[in-house]
Formats: sequence, structure tokens, C-alpha cells
Amino acid sequence: MSSPGEQGSLHLSELALTRAVDDRAAARRSPTLLAELLAAPATRVLEVSRGRAQLADGDRLRWRPPAAADARRLGVFLGEQDGVSRVAVGLAVDEAPADDDPSWQGLRALAPALGPADAGLVVQAVAVLNWHDAHRFCPRCGAPTEVIEAGYVRRCTADGSQHWPRTDPAVIMTVVDDDDRLLLGRHVDWPAGRFSTLAGFVEPGESLEAAVRREVLEEVGLAVGEVAYRGSQPWPFPSSVMLGFTAHALGTDVRPDGDEIAEARWFTRAELREAVDAGIVGLSPRVSISRALVEHWYGERLPDPPPS
Ligand SMILES: [Zn+2]
Repeated sequence: MSSPGEQGSLHLSELALTRAVDDRAAARRSPTLLAELLAAPATRVLEVSRGRAQLADGDRLRWRPPAAADARRLGVFLGEQDGVSRVAVGLAVDEAPADDDPSWQGLRALAPALGPADAGLVVQAVAVLNWHDAHRFCPRCGAPTEVIEAGYVRRCTADGSQHWPRTDPAVIMTVVDDDDRLLLGRHVDWPAGRFSTLAGFVEPGESLEAAVRREVLEEVGLAVGEVAYRGSQPWPFPSSVMLGFTAHALGTDVRPDGDEIAEARWFTRAELREAVDAGIVGLSPRVSISRALVEHWYGERLPDPPPS
């Protein structure tokens, strides 16, 4: 088998949360845009409640025309798709659907079920509304903030400072040794046999490459040399973007830190395939960039674990 881990990037079109194809039409984000769009019957509106949205039939979201109640909801202009303006509205707490309503699903369930356009729009909608939920007050002075720019900026009502949606970068990496074996770790909270790539947040003032090296050293006590970027995936749980890398290990001796990583193991391709086939090792779900990174190293898709 060739050594796909040494070059090339991930097939991002296959990453469930990385499929946005719509036009965000950011130039249209004027102070009056939302009011105009919510008065236009051709606009299509997506309701979002605590990170969940509603599936219509098949692979589409439930898009509806504007309703009178939308004017008092938090609205976000998502952009245009098929020439139609799309707006997300956040439902108030007392409007939330029942927790067990099966038509309402979070992104982990929605993204793989949806077609590319709707998958991109719902990731955008949830990510921006998550930010609004956590930024009602000014970080400078504590006064309430108000929504402007069609849902993309909050402005302090006291000092006028403006605040934009934030995205927190996290690095996630396959670690490969001189023999092209793959290192996977088991988080302390995971059951025996569940393994994944290492990952962690980028700290202020740190390059992405340095974050990869620091996280690997912290989590498994291993120094890594060359670090190569592979691709990215928005991960709005609640506000991350996952930046995928391959890191080349400078040794093979691993010492899991015990705080985050309970166990770390090296796998050859044959060993990983055998363990996955036997149900001894379970990988991250297909929606994750972790799975894509592992399969990029492996060279092809790996089977899903047998149902337990
Ligand atoms: Zn303020």
C-alpha cells in the first residue's frame, strides 16, 4: 500500500459538516435587511432551538415562509440559495419543541442526513445562534448588547463597542511514526476500545503547528517533528473549527497523561483493520474530521463498528 499519510489533503466534500455551497451574500447585511426579508413571502425561514433544527421529508430541512412572530425572534441572514434568501430564527425558551420530538435533531444527526446545501446552512445557523446565546452582554462593561448587521454583529448599548461571532480554533491530528504506524488515544471518559485522534484547543499567541506539538507532548509525552495541514471542519459544539494535521513522531515511547488520555496505542494498517473488524476498536463517527484523518492515513474507508 502507498503511504497516503505523507501527502495530500482530506476529501473535504465528504466531511458532513464541511459542505456549504450557498452564497452568504455578506454585502447585503444592512440594518434593515432582516425586516425586509421577514416581510417578503418568498423568504425561507429555518427555526433553530437550542442547537436543533427540524427535518422535513427526505434530505431537506423544514423551510417555511416568514411568520408574524419572527419579528420578535433573534434572526440571522444566512445568505442565498437557489436565488432564495434564507433566514434562521432562534426560538425562545418557551417555544422550544419537546426534547423527544424526533423531527428535531442536532447537527450530529442532521448533517449526515441532509444534502450539501442544507447541511451547510444549518451548521452556519446553529454556529451563529450559539454565539448569540452566549454573548448577550458586553465583555467590556457588562451592559446588554443589541443585534445589528442582520445577525452578524452585536453592539453594546452603553459604549457602542461592536462584537463579532467568534470561532475557537482547535487542532486535531494523526500522529505517525517512522514505520508509518498510527497513534490513537482513548479519552479517560470513553469506554474500553474507543479510540480517536488526539486534539486540543489552540492557545492565545500560539501557532497551529505549535499547538499540535504541545498537545501531543501534553497528552502522550511524545515529541513530534514535521506537521502537515490536511483540512478543516466547522464544529459548532458550541463554537469550534477543527483544523486537521498529520504529525510525524520523533519516537515511539508514549506516556498517556491520565488526565485526558487514559491509553494510547500504535497501529499498523493491518492491526487497525483487524481490530475494527473484530469490534475491539471503535472509531469516531463518520461525521467527524477525526474519522476522515484516520481514513486518510489508512488509504480508504474503514467499516463502521458492528451494532452493539
Ligand atoms: Zn459595553
